[in-house]
Parts: sequence; C-alpha cells; structure tokens
Amino acid sequence: MADFEVPVLREYPIIPKLKEGTMAHSSPYVAKAVMQEPLGFPGELLDNWKEVAIEKMGELCGKYRSLQVYLDSCVKCGACTDKCHYYLGTTDPKNMPVARQDLLRKVYRRYFTFAGKYFPKLVGAADLTEEVLDDWYSYFHQCSQCRRCSVFCPYGIDTAEISMAAREIMDAVGKGQKYCNEIIGKVFKIGNNLGLPEPALRDTLEGIEEDVEDDTGVKVRYPLDEKGAEVLLVTPSADFFAEPHVDGLIGYGKVFHEAGISWTLSSKASEAANFGMFIGSYENMRRVSMRIREAALELGVKRIVFGECGHAWRVAYSFLNTLAGPFDFLDPRYPVPQHICELTNGLIKEGKLKFDKSLNDDMKLTFHDSCNVARASRMGDKPGGQFVIPREIIKACCNHFYDMPADTIHESTYCCGGGGGLLTDDLMELRVKGAMPRMQALKTVVEEHGVTNLVAICAICKSQFAKTLPYYGFDMNSIVSLHQLVSNAIILSDAPKDDDENDDDGDDA
Ligand code: SF4
Ligand code: SF4
Repeated sequence: MADFEVPVLREYPIIPKLKEGTMAHSSPYVAKAVMQEPLGFPGELLDNWKEVAIEKMGELCGKYRSLQVYLDSCVKCGACTDKCHYYLGTTDPKNMPVARQDLLRKVYRRYFTFAGKYFPKLVGAADLTEEVLDDWYSYFHQCSQCRRCSVFCPYGIDTAEISMAAREIMDAVGKGQKYCNEIIGKVFKIGNNLGLPEPALRDTLEGIEEDVEDDTGVKVRYPLDEKGAEVLLVTPSADFFAEPHVDGLIGYGKVFHEAGISWTLSSKASEAANFGMFIGSYENMRRVSMRIREAALELGVKRIVFGECGHAWRVAYSFLNTLAGPFDFLDPRYPVPQHICELTNGLIKEGKLKFDKSLNDDMKLTFHDSCNVARASRMGDKPGGQFVIPREIIKACCNHFYDMPADTIHESTYCCGGGGGLLTDDLMELRVKGAMPRMQALKTVVEEHGVTNLVAICAICKSQFAKTLPYYGFDMNSIVSLHQLVSNAIILSDAPKDDDENDDDGDDA
C-alpha cells in the first residue's frame, strides 16, 4: 500500500532512535508564479533572495517581539525533543522541535547577534546558503504548527510561530508552497478552498435539504445568502459534500431548526479555513477574514457562528476581531465569534435539544482534541472549555464514550499529522508517519474498550484520518463529525410519528 515504511504500533509508546536525514527528501511542491503573485509574493526565487530573506527576518523580529524572544531564549534543555509527532513518527532528528527552531536560529544569530557576527562557530551561527534554504523548505513543511512542543518547553517557546515566520520569509523570496498558496488564491477568486461557485453550492444545499426531508420527514433548511437571518454560519467548504464532514453540516442545520434560530450560509464567505495563518502572512489572513465581515454586513446578521474547523477557530477566536473588527453591528449578547459547539451545548443546557442516545449505540466513541482548538483557543467562559464542551455534547447524545490516554488528549493532544498546510498528497509519507502517535493512542482504547469510532471537530483532522487510518489497520469510515452524532440522535419535535411516516406535511423552519 505504501512505498515507505509505516511505523509499527507498539504495546506502549517508545522514544525512537535517531536516523539522520531520513526525511530530508520530503518537500512539498513549490508554488508557481500564477499562485504566488495574486498573494503579493514574487513569482519565483529572486536573484537577490539572500538579502531579501535577511531583511525580512529582521522585519519580522522587529514586528513580532515574541519571535525574537523565542530565537534568543532556548537553553537547549531538551524537554521538547521527544514531543513532536513528526519526530516520533519519522525518527529524523531535524524534526525535534529544538532542531527545527535551530534551522532559523543559526541564521538569526549570524546576522542579528554580536556573537554570531564575530564568533559564529562558537555560538552555532551559520551563513544563509542555498543548502540552508532547502533545509528550511523541507523541515518547516514538516511542522504542522500544532504547538505541542511549546506546552513542554519551560520557556514556552512556540515552534509554530517560528515555522510561520520561516514560511513567510520563503514566500517573500519567491519560494512558497503550492498547496497553501493555490488554496488562498481560490478563496480570493471564488470564495472557498474547493473553488465551489455559488450555483454549485446552492444546488448542493438543495440536495441536502431533500435528503434530510426524505430521511426525517422534516423540512430542515440549509439556506444560502438569506438576508436578515439571525446567524451567519461560516464553515469549512469540505462540509458541503465530503464524508464525514457533510454529516456535521446536516447536524448544524438540525440544531438551528430545533432551536428555532434563523441562519444562513454565505456564498461570499463560503469558507471558514484561513490558510493565511499557515504561511504566516498577516496580510493574506486579513484579506481572507474580511470576506466574513463583508458577508455579515451585507446579510444583516446578528451573530457569526463557526462550524467544525480547528485552525479556522484559532484564527476566529484569537484574531478575527483584530483582523476584521470591530463587530459592533452584531448582537452584543453573544460572543463574537461563537463556535457551533458552544451554541449546541448552550441549547442542550437550556433544555432546548432532546436526544435519543440509543441511535448512536452502534458506535463506541473516543474524541480527538484538534491541536488548534486545544492549544490555541478556548470555548465557553471557563478555562478548559474547549476540552469540556465537545465531550459534554458527545455524552449528551451517545451512551458509549471513552477517552484516550491522558498524555495524548486535552492540552497534550497529538496533531492528526495533516495540519498546518500539510494536507497534501505530495506529503503523504510525512502525514502517515506523523499520525503514528495518535494511532497508537487510538489502538489503546480500541483494545481496552472496543472503541469503534474517532470523533473530531476539525475538517483537516477528518480528511487526514480518512486517509491515514487504513495505513494502521483501522477503517477509514471510523472517523466521524461531532455534529454527525448530534444529527443521528436529535429528536426533531415536528417529525412525523411512526404511524404517519409517509406523510410529508412537515413544517418550515
Ligand atoms: S509545533 Fe507541533 S509539529 Fe511543530 S515542532 Fe512543535 S510539536 Fe512538532
Ligand atoms: S524545551 Fe524549550 S528551551 Fe528546552 S530545548 Fe526545547 S525549545 Fe529549547
């Protein structure tokens, strides 16, 4: 099945022996000029790339003081070395977080520190060369910006931020990544990562409405561009058609329907994902975010709710108000923005949603904390809400839930292996190997409790697991959306009773 060695899942996790250079060949396709230029980057590697790169590094260290602090403060304690899923899965020492940071740090030291300028060898400083640039391109695209290493670093050094800076420097010299930059271009041109135009989106939503009515006997609506709706739902475009994502979208619609909340999707902001963050580009992140503000204003909504997408929630929770605010035109009684899990859980607590849990009894479930939700955002009004709220929803609509080992969930969760702009087939080996620690933890609950399904609230995690689960002997369909469970178990109060199931007289929402 694979033309590379798939890691073996063991009885218990081990720290692997180092194998130098084992992933040096792993590099994603480079973006062509047609993908670079619409984002404001040079079309190809500049002749004077070295000067531009050093200048950009200086600019970023001045602009983001955290970056300079991270580059200055590592004491080489080693606490982070075995914390990265890519190191554990690939055994390549350059995938140890401290070694990844050093790829940038050695150049920073050479050009921006006194010791590095005059005694480079003494302080591990190095010139910026083509070989270094190649290493940057390879290994900064072997970091999913998951922040796990930062949890264990006594100084809180965030390798994700260093990776973002490195990618921003590479874009500035004309060496961007095809997958991310092509997708950002599609969002600007069409509105979503998939390049799904408005008529196709409308058709898709109409098809979903028909399917749900056939299935439940209720006219649950999946509206597009409806002015005056209370809620604008911004969700990853994968939710519009791919399994298991679309089952989550069906669940959101049923929640809004049952709660009597009017809502709409937008053809302008038909994408929650914001790959501007993955490439470290504030300007592209801002441009992507502005579509949401414009759509909210044009549609006259009162609230903005985000669907299941990890990094989209990170951008929304942490940066949306700065990037595209102020949102003073929205209803101040609700958080701006709000996560669909916050909304659903609030309705459950108010007694507005009822479930028949037995409808999920064919599954024994565990929950994968997506790294961007777990370590780069929150939910609700209490610390740790991002861990509690999804689990409360699962337990409200399922009878059988088991957590994976404590050192692999919550703040210590392992990345799925496909985050940070790495969900591309040209990085399949990295994705499969990087998924190993999560697969190891899954194996534990499969063996101990007979777990059959893995729940996620991130489009990237869902897509990544659908591809990588089979490499480890699991069924690709065992990954499910959280709102798919909600959808399965929710009792629609206007559903026809069993004896008049064929009567299609359901009420409009
Ligand atoms: S941020 Fe995540 S992927 Fe990147 S080095 Fe740290 S643990 Fe590894
Ligand atoms: S844990 Fe922090 S200080 Fe220690 S080696 Fe890693 S990055 Fe450096």
